[in-house]
Amino acid sequence: PTAELRALDAAHHMHPFTDAAALEKKGARVITRADGVRLWDSEGTEILDGMAGLWCVNIGYGRTELADAAARQMRELPYYNTFFQTTHVPAIALAARIAELAPGDLNHVFFAGSGSEANDTNLRMVRHYWAVKGKPEKTVFISRKNAYHGSSMGSASLGGMQAMHSQGGLPLPGIVHIDQPYWYGEGGDMTPAEFGLARARQLEEKILELGEDRVAAFIAEPIQGAGGVIIPPETYWPEIQRICDKYEILLVADEVICGFGRTGHWFGSQHFGIRPHIMTIAKGLSSGYQPIGGSVVCDEVAETLSHGEFYHGYTYSGHPVAAAVALENLRILEEEDILGHVNRVAAPHLAEAWASLADHPLVGEAVSVGLLGAVALTPDKATRAKFAAEPGTAGFVTRERCFANNLVMRHVGDRMVISPPLIITPGDIDLLVARARTALDEAHAILRT
Ligand code: PLP
Repeated sequence: PTAELRALDAAHHMHPFTDAAALEKKGARVITRADGVRLWDSEGTEILDGMAGLWCVNIGYGRTELADAAARQMRELPYYNTFFQTTHVPAIALAARIAELAPGDLNHVFFAGSGSEANDTNLRMVRHYWAVKGKPEKTVFISRKNAYHGSSMGSASLGGMQAMHSQGGLPLPGIVHIDQPYWYGEGGDMTPAEFGLARARQLEEKILELGEDRVAAFIAEPIQGAGGVIIPPETYWPEIQRICDKYEILLVADEVICGFGRTGHWFGSQHFGIRPHIMTIAKGLSSGYQPIGGSVVCDEVAETLSHGEFYHGYTYSGHPVAAAVALENLRILEEEDILGHVNRVAAPHLAEAWASLADHPLVGEAVSVGLLGAVALTPDKATRAKFAAEPGTAGFVTRERCFANNLVMRHVGDRMVISPPLIITPGDIDLLVARARTALDEAHAILRT
């Protein structure tokens, strides 16, 4: 019974990113099964998943081929590591497949169990790279405020979430942050093009302030996801690329959300023409069916590191079951032309349906790229004003109304974000947008009182 499950959950289960007091009052929703773009809870309610879990179930729920791939692999070789000159077929095949899909000369994969672990790998690998190159003083990472790169000490430091930093005294030394290219919220009187350039040039200013001989890398998501689906102005990435090239700064693209079809490309970097030295991958690599992540590394960095031992690795680096499931997931993405579906059907339909929310009195902007979208909530559309109440209140109220209308949509401050499974149909996109509009109407009524 649900009440019993909730009581046990409250007594013993510590939830990630959850206000424990609120949880105790209401209890958690118990999700019991899923299929396609839908979830069901323990009370039998059908819920539309506008977030693909945590931005990860790209091929949708219920694909038995992935369960079969896992079972086959578990029977054959359930575990072996890839340390000390051993390897196995799933890790070999997956690394080779990722190298085929990745742009440019990103031909090498260091596996991890998650995006957080992969970003920790990046921190260590980049510093080691510069040391091997004879520039050990190049250690500083530049990242962006409000970014999310994971929850370990290293990856939470790379992230720019104030609330995370305030717990436990982060960031770690050697990690600094510049502003995000969030025109709607922070662009003031500038045009998006001017603002994109101004924000990119903060990278140059920071490099000059620190000294280019100290800066190791810049890390960013092509589109900042958990920071609120911040789609940068077109001027932003070319300028970032120019600056990284000019000052010999490694560029790390965190593709944990943007990768594997989310923007209509295999990687979000391809959407903007970014040429990263390293990409962080996770989530959509296995559509979340198994925990797996990794760092995809260019020839130059891999070559430099190939002359001695890099003292780094995880018990589950290249886990055979996770790798077999990821391979099956990539096969489905390709053979069913799911990127084609995104580009020809789902993304154009979503772009139009989603943009229609811009006429809502609570909505300032309604934007999307591929199947990644956001609306900014505002009390005054003309001035792009922010709510006076505690930041996030409007978003929190709207998220609750989405939930009450059986739609999972997330809020980041006063931005509502969506990232549905890539297989979503036009009919379900219309349903998603209709439920979002109902939730916005209800939130509007609540926020006015
Ligand atoms: N990087 C980005 C951009 C993410 O969105 C996330 C998770 O949401 C991570 C890294 C961390 O990944 P994980 O939760 O698998 O550790």
